Amino acid sequence: MRSKKTSVGLPADSTSERAPVWLEPGAGFPLLRFDNTFVRELPGDPDTLRAVRGVRGACFSPILPLPVREPRLVAHAFEVARLLDLSEAVCASDAFTAIFAGNALAPGMEPYAACYGGHQFGTWAGQLGDGRAISLGEVLNAEGQRWELQLKGAGATPYSRTADGRAVLRSSIREFLCSEAMAHLGVPTTRALSLVSTSDRVVRDMFYDGQPRSEPGAIVCRVAPSFLRFGNFEIFAARGEVDVLTRVCDYTLRHHFPELGAPAPETYAAWLTEVCRRTAVLVAHWMRVGFVHGVMNTDNMSILGLTIDYGPFGFLDHFDPGFTPNTTDAAERRYRFSNQPLVAKWNLVKLAESLFPLIGSIPPLEDALAIYTATFEAEQSRHFAAKLGLHSAERSLVDELHELLALVETDMTVFFRRLADVPVELGSEASDDALLAPLADAYYPPQDDRTGLSCLSGPARARTVTWLRRYAASVKAEGTPPVLRKQRMNAVNPKYVLRNCLAQLAIDAAEAGDPGLVVELLEVLRHPYDEQPERERFAAKRPDWARRRAGCSMLSCSS
Ligand code: AMP
Ligand code: MG
Repeated sequence: MRSKKTSVGLPADSTSERAPVWLEPGAGFPLLRFDNTFVRELPGDPDTLRAVRGVRGACFSPILPLPVREPRLVAHAFEVARLLDLSEAVCASDAFTAIFAGNALAPGMEPYAACYGGHQFGTWAGQLGDGRAISLGEVLNAEGQRWELQLKGAGATPYSRTADGRAVLRSSIREFLCSEAMAHLGVPTTRALSLVSTSDRVVRDMFYDGQPRSEPGAIVCRVAPSFLRFGNFEIFAARGEVDVLTRVCDYTLRHHFPELGAPAPETYAAWLTEVCRRTAVLVAHWMRVGFVHGVMNTDNMSILGLTIDYGPFGFLDHFDPGFTPNTTDAAERRYRFSNQPLVAKWNLVKLAESLFPLIGSIPPLEDALAIYTATFEAEQSRHFAAKLGLHSAERSLVDELHELLALVETDMTVFFRRLADVPVELGSEASDDALLAPLADAYYPPQDDRTGLSCLSGPARARTVTWLRRYAASVKAEGTPPVLRKQRMNAVNPKYVLRNCLAQLAIDAAEAGDPGLVVELLEVLRHPYDEQPERERFAAKRPDWARRRAGCSMLSCSS
């Protein structure tokens, strides 16, 4: 162990607070190849204090993680470790836990917190920044891929405002599991390498109702090519710091969009177009799997089109277009499921406004935004056709289905998965009951005791049967053999998603000292499209207890 200055000028041991130790090269941790372009190429904050402040003219502030007591590795994702060329033996080492708790630093790391702003719930909020995220640096792996490592919950930074820079175990479990679940679902996302718990307690007022309680703390190491957000650009435009705005835009082009060419007004416009396209692809995926982000503020929108900042998110259990898991948003429901495509566009408008000083005219901005709309619509149609096992689906077929799903409480995930079992190949020979039988489990109201069939009755039943017959005709017209249709549908309609009730069960057990369910859920969610017969219980629709349980139907930003 040695004490060392980081190359961004931060003394590791000059303050009275605890500081992480610097590991010697080879001291139990492999030498990773760090190439810290963000701190090397962008203007940094000359001030290295932890004090909360407005930071001007800088894209980041150097800051060290604050060590925690008794760090324990709860879980890690071997797939993410592999991206970093870290072996399972390394992941099991004390050095790994110490580093990803923020207690130790490996050679080459140059920790910092990024400066960004954002529009929160539709209003410009000014400077926000990494208030509890500390980036450790950028690793170049053997394949030449660049991965930024970022600790969430590793202590206060100049951007912590009135908060403590920490994260509680419950929110860390949710972020860890959902990052990986989304990756395995095929949804663009930041990844999660590790989840470390600590005996340090963190005080949170979970529902902002004046009843704070002390909770176990944790640190997640997130991994992504970059954590740049719309807000990293908005802040400099809002402050009129066009020189810094230009530098961060050029940096982003150089490292993350090199195929677009050298900086020029047309290149910035092409870049904005690409961000619009990627955001459309992202939101179409969310709609496909029933994911509600919960806090789509512009500071939570990735410039790379990744799902970022898992907070009060939720997967739809019963299909409710108005659902938001976020109690902070309960009144306006700005971030409800059905509004996500519109909100993403609103956020892109804010990004476009920020880039105006570099692009210099309005039409390219409008063109880029039009690409968002066109891409979203094309992707949404493609996804829903695939969910139905069709090459292309008439819009009215999909629209009518969305209406049906909301008529009676219907579980979105179970419904689409079971739709593959509806015997559409029988055509007009199939009885109504035979068509409906595979779907019985998808409905929340209790089954009919007499028939054992779904609760559907009256007009809802009649409309569903009519729809199923129309659907059967579409399948028949395309001529896909039944086995192939089922295979195709199962490849896009997940059987396993991280329902809030599942996350909550894992949280309850982990808070009581047993992290087993976190690890088991991670394993289940690795294969969301596969049948896992021994794990059927994780595919069941939401149990009744979860309807009103905090953490399941209600979540806040307090994490
Ligand atoms: P979020 O809505 O969670 O994305 O956070 C919005 C802003 O609040 C960001 O600048 C976060 O870094 C900051 N923030 C959230 N929680 C904390 C915390 N516990 N400590 C410090 N900053 C926080
Ligand atoms: Mg955030």
